[in-house]
Amino acid sequence: MAKLKKLKDELIYCGKIAGQKNFTPGVSGNLSARYGDDILITVSGSANGYLSDEDFVLMDFCGNSLEKGKKPSSEKMLHVEFYKTRPDINYIIHVHAPYLSTFAACRKALDEPVMAENVFYFGQIPLAEYGLPSSKDLVEKTARYFKDYDAVLMANHGFITGGKTLMDAYLKLELAESYAQVVFNSKLMGGAALLDNNQVEDILKLR
Ligand SMILES: [Zn+2]
Repeated sequence: MAKLKKLKDELIYCGKIAGQKNFTPGVSGNLSARYGDDILITVSGSANGYLSDEDFVLMDFCGNSLEKGKKPSSEKMLHVEFYKTRPDINYIIHVHAPYLSTFAACRKALDEPVMAENVFYFGQIPLAEYGLPSSKDLVEKTARYFKDYDAVLMANHGFITGGKTLMDAYLKLELAESYAQVVFNSKLMGGAALLDNNQVEDILKLR
């Protein structure tokens, strides 16, 4: 039980920071962590920036709640599929961060080699096709990217990322949101000067 409490504390802290940075407005988004053969996930309707112990529920890998009267987030199957596809991922953050969501709203992937650091960390951040929130369709359209990418934009919806540790996942969110902001700003300034193929290859060799 101490382990469960520690895990909740970690997620509460992460949600709070993400909230303070305006990465997770209102009741949008959800957080989860692997917990043995189960998943600890935020409950339906919770606000990531203002979580308490009561805002979490354990569920199995079929998305069934293991705690009476508590309903896992409606995007629970998205988390299940991410964990199933990627045994190396232990934490998942799904948010509607404003700059990332701007690209999601315009249905634009973050796929141009604009900044060396982002090429190194993400390669690209692909855009999954639109699916109705909470639907099986959304899960299928998004999950197809989990094998090859740690971070995915969801058309007209938001962003999802995962990490080995919660800090790893959170830093990917922070980096991705700043990346989206830089790309957005550079478009306002007439467009970024893109890295050429050789420059991109040299960056990828550093991995
Ligand atoms: Zn969402």
